[in-house]
Amino acid sequence: MGKRILVAGAGHGGLAAAADLARRGYDVTVFEQNKREDLGYDWTDIFAPRSLLAANVPYPPRAKYEYKENMTFFSPSQSIGLKQDIPEKELEIKMERKDIYTHLLSHAEKCGVKLRFSCKIKGPVMLGSRVAGLFIDGGETVYGDLVIDAAGLDSPVRTALPPVCGVENDVGSFEQFFSYRAFYERTGDFEPEDKFKVYLLHEGEMGVVWLATEDGHADVLIGRFEPFGMDEVNRVLDLLKRNNPQIGGKLVRGGSFAKIPVRQPLSVMVADGWAAIGDSAFMTIPLIGSGIANSLKASHMLVKTITEDKDSAFTAATLWKYQREYFKQLGNGHAAMAVMKLFLLRLNPYELDFIFEKGILTAKEFTISSETTNIQSMLKLSFKEFLERAKSVCTDRILLTKILKVSSRLASTFAITAMMPRTYNRAAVTKWADTYTSFFTKLEK
Ligand SMILES: Cc1cc2nc3c(=O)[nH]c(=O)nc-3n(C[C@H](O)[C@H](O)[C@H](O)COP(=O)(O)OP(=O)(O)OC[C@H]3O[C@@H](n4cnc5c(N)ncnc54)[C@H](O)[C@@H]3O)c2cc1C
Repeated sequence: MGKRILVAGAGHGGLAAAADLARRGYDVTVFEQNKREDLGYDWTDIFAPRSLLAANVPYPPRAKYEYKENMTFFSPSQSIGLKQDIPEKELEIKMERKDIYTHLLSHAEKCGVKLRFSCKIKGPVMLGSRVAGLFIDGGETVYGDLVIDAAGLDSPVRTALPPVCGVENDVGSFEQFFSYRAFYERTGDFEPEDKFKVYLLHEGEMGVVWLATEDGHADVLIGRFEPFGMDEVNRVLDLLKRNNPQIGGKLVRGGSFAKIPVRQPLSVMVADGWAAIGDSAFMTIPLIGSGIANSLKASHMLVKTITEDKDSAFTAATLWKYQREYFKQLGNGHAAMAVMKLFLLRLNPYELDFIFEKGILTAKEFTISSETTNIQSMLKLSFKEFLERAKSVCTDRILLTKILKVSSRLASTFAITAMMPRTYNRAAVTKWADTYTSFFTKLEK
């Protein structure tokens, strides 16, 4: 019998890693609090399909997905809309969240993963500084050689790890997006020019609102950096309907609140007997909140690290390779995008309007998808374009100061992420993690 691996929560990356490990002979069990039929939200998600192949998961049946529409990003005054033009090879797919789960679960079962539903995890079992298992609601204790933490943003495992593990437990302000998502009946039969609208600082509020007009419904998402309730949802809907009469009054699907991490990746993703993946390790793209593709890509890196650990020690030292690889391929770029997110948050609606009007940001920069892994690929400017935009920025001194500040912060981010220790040494890792975390903490103030 192979080593025993416990997966906390049926997160996307956790399920993909579970399948790949079970296929390779590990004894893998997933513990999920929900019933099987209740997994996933009642809405569609957008992600890069190639991430499934990266995780050794086959493509879903063609009938189960469509290609996503390009999004049009609107300035706060709504006078300018910049439409993406995602290249064909980077097109993302749109799929029902429940179908993504059905696909991942049936693949995991075929590979030999044991799935335990309606099984709420209370916290980690610690033996000294090692995570040795999981406490399950109802009094059960399960032990394993490794716990893969795929239990999401508020994971009961990560949030309860003792300080000796050196892992951040909590999520700071401006690091999570509170969102409401609902599908409303669609009224009228006209085709809007922009089928997928994203409003930045909608009506001056810090956050975004999107409206995707589909054949049978209007898909609305409201996102804020503070929790909000139905009064705010109804207020925003009324404002949105003024320019979008296709949003009907009847709620047809969804209609729930959920959180999305929108921050730099977790500073330390591994400990003795523990590795985090997906939202638990904050693997979303901070500017857009897409996390499915990254967690699938991360599953391959984690499986590779686990299988290369020939003694199955699964210590922070042997699992460190996983963290290094994640940051190298994705995390370093996402940390820089977290800095950009904080910059955009500090702009007032007038400054953002100015940026749209003067072409300082264009549709090219908004052509961002779950395949966008770094700032450089977002800002592909020719020298001439750079000079033209710099000239416009120089006409607004306050904006110029903010842009110079964010440029130096981006340079610091690259320097800090490049300093991540190559091999695991507790003191060196703790020192590096403190520098990385305090850099972002200061930026958020
Ligand atoms: C409104 C909204 C829209 C989004 N749209 C997109 C999109 O279009 N594309 C995209 O890529 N991403 C999107 N995301 C983000 C995406 O949901 C996550 O980044 C992605 O699912 C990765 O998270 P995860 O699978 O690691 O964690 P989760 O999806 O949070 O899954 C964690 C699992 O752990 C389980 N769990 C938690 N606690 C316990 C416990 N105590 N015991 C047992 N089980 C537990 C949960 O029930 C859940 O099944 C969206 C998120 C929201 C909220």
